[in-house]
Amino acid sequence: MLLFCNCGQAMTLSFRMLVFENMYQVDLVPILECEDCNSYELISSLKQDITRLVAEMKDQRREGRVIFTNVNELAAVLYDIYKSGQEQLEVSSFEAYLMEKCEERINLLLDLYGYARKAGTLLG
Ligand SMILES: [Zn+2]
Repeated sequence: MLLFCNCGQAMTLSFRMLVFENMYQVDLVPILECEDCNSYELISSLKQDITRLVAEMKDQRREGRVIFTNVNELAAVLYDIYKSGQEQLEVSSFEAYLMEKCEERINLLLDLYGYARKAGTLLG
């Protein structure tokens, strides 16, 4: 998933606010950035999610700012990693680390789901 820049440098994880049509702001979007040539690109597996989010904002005429990490699981996981400084890891171990974090997150969500279902059964 992580890439090398056209200039050959490994790209590092960073976060940016993207503005669409001067109206719709999506903050904390994970990007890959090359410090050498100042270029950046979206993480490809998130492109669709961002497109969909902006389409939703347009539909609902919801101008202003949405925090992407609040509405996207992968972005939330990446942000946790970013905050803990793990983005400095080597590219290969970063991917392993990311997979691990995603699994933890999924397990947490499954636990919550199981708990909620159990609670629902007890109450119902
Ligand atoms: Zn570069």
